[in-house]
Formats: sequence, structure tokens, C-alpha cells
Amino acid sequence: MAIDGEKIIHAVMEGSRIRESKGIIPLFGVYLSIFSTRYYNQLSFNFQKQIHPSREVEAERLLIKAAQECGYATFQGVRNSWEWDEIVKPMIESKEDQIMGFAAVAVAFGWGDLVVKQLIPDEKLVIRVNDSYEAKGFLDLHEVTKTGKCFMLRGVTAAFMDLLYGDGYPEGCFTFSAAEPLCRAKGDPYCEFIARKSSY
Ligand SMILES: [Zn+2]
Repeated sequence: MAIDGEKIIHAVMEGSRIRESKGIIPLFGVYLSIFSTRYYNQLSFNFQKQIHPSREVEAERLLIKAAQECGYATFQGVRNSWEWDEIVKPMIESKEDQIMGFAAVAVAFGWGDLVVKQLIPDEKLVIRVNDSYEAKGFLDLHEVTKTGKCFMLRGVTAAFMDLLYGDGYPEGCFTFSAAEPLCRAKGDPYCEFIARKSSY
């Protein structure tokens, strides 16, 4: 059976109606909250601005690293949850199907309309996103730029591969790293993330 993304999205939408008193949403083994993307973008872009221009690349690297660790821990929680066992696991036929499940959950989390374009086991993952909130947020505030600005999705793409092909949790993080050769913030029609084995 192929992974039914609609079914996963529907389950997350239903489950997200349950809130704790502080607004926390306990779902898929992790704690979620509704968060303004504009606020997150502001924090992220200001972080880069506050760092000396000569260290901009380093600032981006830190943001991507934070996203990868976040994605790695979050989706480890997701795939060990009872909701995963109940809703997603029955649809999984191969190890690689997990990535399709992860992507559907990420869509439901509101991280973008992730589409897996290519998956070569243990080698390469290509994810395409049309509506990255980071690219949109960047373009709302700035002119078209020369480098990709979707640090969250870049880290998350690599984290998906880490979880499947890296060493057992928590040793496998950063086995892969991702690039963003196409980004709407650069004027491209969509953002595309490519994860490959890390060279460091
Ligand atoms: Zn982008």
C-alpha cells in the first residue's frame, strides 16, 4: 500500500484540536504548538543580521544545524509514537516509505507542501517545496537574494536521511547534509532540497 498523505494530514488535523492548558498540542509523540511563521522568520533573519557580515555563512550553518537536530529528534519521536503505529505503519511496505510518511507529517505540521521527488536509498533525497514560509517571509522583507534561505527545510531534509540510514538514534545525526540549489528567495519557481552523505 502506498503512503496515503491525505490520511496522515487528516489525522494530524484532527489530533491538533486537543490542547493542553498552555496551548501545547501533544501529538505523534512530540509536543507541538501553533507558532507564527512571521515571528520565527524575524528571529532567524535577525540572528543573521546581528552577526558580522563576514560570518553570515557561519550563521546560516548554525540555523541549518539547529533545524537538522530539531528534525532528527522530532521525527524520531514521531516514528515511535502510537499514532505512527496506528496510522502510518500499516501503510509502510519498505524502509523508504518512512520518508513519505515523514513528509506527510511535515506537511500536516505546516512546514510546507513537501513532495519527495527522488530517493536513492542511503545516497540521495530530493524534496521540492512550493510554499516555503521561509522563502515567502524573506521575500516579504527583502529583495531577491543570491542564496537559499530555507534553513529549516534544508536541515529537515538531511534529518530524514539521518533517521533512515545513519547510525542508531541519537548517534546518526549529521550523517547527511542538505543543499538548497533552488529557492524562491533566489527567484526560482520553487525550493528544492538535496540531501547527500556528509563529507565532513
Ligand atoms: Zn527556499
